[in-house]
Amino acid sequence: MSYVQTVLNNLKKQNPNEPEFHQAATEILTTLAPVVDKHPEYEASGLLERFVEPERVIIFRVPWTDDNGKVHVNKGYRVQFNSAIGPYKGGLRFHPSVNLSIIKFLGLEQILKNSLTGLPIGGGKGGSDFDPKGKSDREIMAFCQSFMAELYRHIGADTDVPAGDIGVGGREIGYLFGQYKRIRNEHVGVLTGRGLSYGGSLVRTEATGYGLVYIAEEAMKARGESFKGKTVIISGSGNVAIYACQKAQSLGAKVVAMYDSNGYIYDPNGIKLEIVKEIKEVKRGRIKEYIQHTAGATYTEGCSGIWTIPCDVALPCATQNEIDAKSAEILVKNGVKYVAEGANMPSTLEAIEIFQKSGIVFLPAKAANAGGVATSALEMAQSSGRMFWSFEEVDEKLKGIMANIYRNIDNAAKEYGYEGNYVMGANIAGFIKVATAMMAHGVV
Ligand code: NDP
Repeated sequence: MSYVQTVLNNLKKQNPNEPEFHQAATEILTTLAPVVDKHPEYEASGLLERFVEPERVIIFRVPWTDDNGKVHVNKGYRVQFNSAIGPYKGGLRFHPSVNLSIIKFLGLEQILKNSLTGLPIGGGKGGSDFDPKGKSDREIMAFCQSFMAELYRHIGADTDVPAGDIGVGGREIGYLFGQYKRIRNEHVGVLTGRGLSYGGSLVRTEATGYGLVYIAEEAMKARGESFKGKTVIISGSGNVAIYACQKAQSLGAKVVAMYDSNGYIYDPNGIKLEIVKEIKEVKRGRIKEYIQHTAGATYTEGCSGIWTIPCDVALPCATQNEIDAKSAEILVKNGVKYVAEGANMPSTLEAIEIFQKSGIVFLPAKAANAGGVATSALEMAQSSGRMFWSFEEVDEKLKGIMANIYRNIDNAAKEYGYEGNYVMGANIAGFIKVATAMMAHGVV
């Protein structure tokens, strides 16, 4: 049996009941076969076994009190996966679906994503099964303070720097930072995605969505195309989705559909983003309210129907496994040309296979959504240097980073004989840097 297959089989045996972690590990490891064949020293030093085992997993109790005085207990997680090329870096997710499998899949992906940015950041991820929906600001604050009352002892500006993810935006980062600062008596860059008044970076809010559109644009440019005139579908209506929509529209695309976890809106005249922003960012409401403000738009309960709307470009920006084989087949049948993943692992393994077999340009999450973490690393640089860069400066750097990622994954795919296969290209390009650093550090 091959080295890769042996490691995968052991991983599944040793980590049962972790389907998302198995899925991510399968996608990554199977594409690394040509690299490990070229480097027999990796097997000799147990490199893959070490690569798929987190350096540290922290699970903790998070008790908090609601507005009626009732005590609740949630689980908190931080997986410090790999620090070979820099301090652990990766977001915190607050969502009822969060469990160890999901945090481990996100952490594993994060290692390669962070490597692809070209910046010195290792991989980690964390979160809680806490559901922020419907909670008051005071309840969110109580939860965040309790979460940080444990997390603070495991993180640090040179150790582990968390950020936002699903359910963790500017408000939550503020409460988490406030508690960290109170306990440690340090005003340092220990979290990214901070507000501009206390050490945040311009463009961080927009970065993942903008970066997604920048890299898709690079792929289009290489094929003599652009966003101009293209019909785009974006799933989700959170941070990534909103800013992907903004940038795609500014480049001349027509975004016709978006969703939240209840259902999707379809506006054949083009989504009016200021209405979506008002509903989701200001009022924290539901996307179905959109149709009360626009003529000609429709709302449909349930999410998966969004993929039946014909489009040139699909940007899944909500959550894992939102595009399955059936949705992928419909997208292909309706003529989609580009799929770029804003969310982490939004396409199932079967869906990816369908896209690739159909010759669609498929940009996987670890490359396509790396703009967020890259800008977080720029925030870290500004914090350490006590500097503050302009919007244009950060945006230019982000653009450069995304163009560079596209070049690297394209070249890696070509070098290994898989031209146009960006899943291979991203995994290989991300892995080689991490593997080289791990080999240099010896067996640790
Ligand atoms: P937000 O919480 O801001 O938004 C998430 C959006 O997805 C919301 O519209 C939410 O709907 C929807 N959603 C969440 N879960 C589901 C579900 N199970 N089914 C359908 N819709 C769902 O999160 P972000 O925009 O920050 O993150 C979105 C994705 O992008 C995630 O996969 C995240 O890991 C990834 N990502 C985020 C980065 C960032 O910088 N924020 C960086 C890199 C990746 P509702 O409003 O109903 O909850």
